[in-house]
Order: sequence, then structure tokens, then C-alpha cells
Amino acid sequence: MSPHPSPATPSDEPRPAPPSRVLVLNSGSSSVKYRLLEMSDGSRLASGLVERIGERTSLVRHTPSASRGEPRERTGPVADHEAALKAMAEELDADGLGLDSPALAAIGHRVVHGGMHFTEPTVVDEAVLAEIERLIPVAPLHNPANLTGIRTATALRPDLPQVAVFDTSFHTTMPESAARYAIDVRTADEHRVRRYGFHGTSHAYVSRETARLLGKAPEDVNVIVLHLGNGASASAVRGGRCVDTSMGLTPLEGLVMGTRSGDVDPAVIFHLTRVGGMSVDEIDTLLNKKSGLVGLCGDNDMREIRRRVDAGDEEAKLAFDIYIHRLKKYIGAYYAVLGRVDAVAFTAGVGENAAPVREAAVAGLAGLGLEVDAGRNGARGTGPRLISPDGARVAVAVVPTDEEMEIATQTYALVRKPN
Ligand code: AMP
Repeated sequence: MSPHPSPATPSDEPRPAPPSRVLVLNSGSSSVKYRLLEMSDGSRLASGLVERIGERTSLVRHTPSASRGEPRERTGPVADHEAALKAMAEELDADGLGLDSPALAAIGHRVVHGGMHFTEPTVVDEAVLAEIERLIPVAPLHNPANLTGIRTATALRPDLPQVAVFDTSFHTTMPESAARYAIDVRTADEHRVRRYGFHGTSHAYVSRETARLLGKAPEDVNVIVLHLGNGASASAVRGGRCVDTSMGLTPLEGLVMGTRSGDVDPAVIFHLTRVGGMSVDEIDTLLNKKSGLVGLCGDNDMREIRRRVDAGDEEAKLAFDIYIHRLKKYIGAYYAVLGRVDAVAFTAGVGENAAPVREAAVAGLAGLGLEVDAGRNGARGTGPRLISPDGARVAVAVVPTDEEMEIATQTYALVRKPN
């Protein structure tokens, strides 16, 4: 028996419901995206974004759930991230969803680079902030913005757990044979040069949802996930754990992307320096911003590229073919890495919407058990769905990603865990 009898409470006074909402923040260098979720049923209470932070024509777009009203949009200067989060807080307030609500359980933050240190979502404290800061040299564009978002949100609700969910965590299960580059070990270790992988929340979510689609436990399924958005990456997931992924030290490695080259011979850089007279910064911009589909044909939107291909444009056709060739190479490579493949899942803007990309990526791979059914592949749909024919050896699926939901789920699970 407890030595301290609990004070009598009137039996008709309802206990306050435990906080069950999570706010997800994705802070980029000049934008903040947010979504407020009710975790008891997974519903979206509101979402929005603030774009062009620091410019005179910043945009604030807020979309409440259908029962709370119409989307709202305004333009005008939003000076910095603090002002952006204040604008978000005002919009939420106007819907009766203010940040001061006791229903809010935590704020979950997307953090791009967690290095090898963060294998799980983590409640932010000073030591965590310092470690994210220490990783800035390997994620100079992303981690500073993520840090600013965390600091600003902490100032708004200092009493609330702020949880960092890392893009890299899902990939920390990669074996050393996949994670290390074959370069001098001491140099690599000194500068933390290794393959980290990105889009981890998407690969985690999609591989789990693919298992669910197959009616199996994630532990029993081997999946190749193809996250094809403006950025693109593939992963090999064995029994729910990532064993290889196509992005490396930075998101530049791997597949052909909207504006990034993906794999190139590293000697291209020496050549462009010595023979082309370009600076390292110029080559960085070239490979990250002026390459990939946009570098090959001037467009990075797959819709426009397909339109041009269908109109007989040779340049667009070559860009498309190079994109597909690389994709196919990775499917084959990850087939070999996994040994047994149960499913290939297409996700993100291109993967979810571009039927010709899916068709071309598995064309000629029937020998590996990979086929798409033209009718299923071409049919419009919103949820997870199979596009392979009945009885196919390997399931080919479209599985819409939801990185915000994954961040919220991981955040909520962490703050509800008993200490
Ligand atoms: P994400 O980065 O996941 O938002 O994906 C953005 C990319 O998805 C865009 O750049 C387009 O190339 C592509 N995309 C979106 N909708 C379609 C569509 N209906 N057909 C082909 N590609 C699409």
C-alpha cells in the first residue's frame, strides 16, 4: 500500500485527456513546412508552409482540416525563421489549435544529418544540439536550418519535448561493407567520410507499408524501395533493416535526380578543376544544381520530360533513358545484395505518379520475376497498391510516402515511452 494516501478527487471531475497531438516541423534554409497531427487517429488537423523566408515576397500558406475551413494564403516579408514560426503559430491560433494547447505532446523536427551518432529519434537537449552542430561540415545546407528550427520552436514552447528525427537513422544498420568507401581508412575516419544515406524516414515508412500491403510482418519481407522525387534514392531493406542505400556522404551519390548528377567518376572533379579551370564551389553547384535531368535536357519535372518525349524530343528522350538506365542498375544491384526480393516499391513525386518511369524501370527484368501489369500501372490511385500481375514472383507496388506522418509517429512513440 502506498504510504501517501492520494488526495480525494471528486469522482465526477473528468481527468484531462493525455496530450495526443504532434507538430512536425521541416525547416529548410529558406522555408518551413509544418503539419499538426492528432495521433489517436492519425488525422491531420492543419498543415502549411512558409516559403522564401528573408525575402520581401515570402509566402505563408495554411491549410486547416476540411472541418476547420478553407486554405489561406498571404504574401509579404517574413524576415527569418523566428518570424516564420510566429506566422505559423498565428495561423494555428486562428483555427483554435494554438501552440499553447495542453493537447500538444511534442514537436518533431526533421534533421537531415545525424551522422553515425543518432540511430534513433532523440529528445533534444544541449548535447544533442551540439552534436547536430558538429555535423554541419557534412550537411552544410541542411543542418544549420534544422538547428534554427529547433531553437526557435524551443523558445516558443520551452516546456515541450522537442524531438529530432534524422534522415540518416534508418541507414545506420548498413553493414560496414556497404557504408565504407574504399579509400584510406585513416583519412576517412579523420574526416568522417562514409556513406550515411538520406530520405531515411521515407524508406522506413515505405518499406513497412509495403510489408503491410503484402499482409506480412516487416521482419519477413525484403524490399527494394525507390524514392523518386526531385531528390531520389534507392534502398535495400532486409527484414525491416536497411542494408544498402544509394545516397552517400551527401545526397549527391546514386540515382540521376532532378538537378543532381548522382554517381560520377570522382576524377570528373579533378578533370574539371585542372582542365576546365573550375573552382570546387563551381563544381559543387554544377553537380548539385545544374546536373541530373535539368543538366541533361533543361527540365527537371518528369511531367514535362514525358510530354517532350511523347512529342519526339531527342534530348528529353536521352535524359529519360539515362535516368532509367541508372535506376535499373540499382534495382539489379540491390537484387544481388538482398538475394531474395519480395517487393519493389515506387514512391515520391515521380515514383507515385509517373507510370512510364515504373514501366521502363522494370522492362526486361521478367527473368528476375519483375513485371508490371499495364492496366494496373496506368490506373490512377491514391493509396498503396500492387501494379504487378497476379501470381508475380516479386510484387511491384506503388506506396505513397508520408515523411511527416513517420516523423510524428516516431516522435509520439518516443515521448510516450515510460522512462
Ligand atoms: P517530390 O520531390 O517527391 O515532391 O517530387 C517532385 C517531382 O515529382 C516533380 O519534380 C515531378 O518531376 C514529379 N511529379 C509530380 N507529379 C508528377 C506526375 N503526375 N507525373 C510525373 N512526375 C510527377
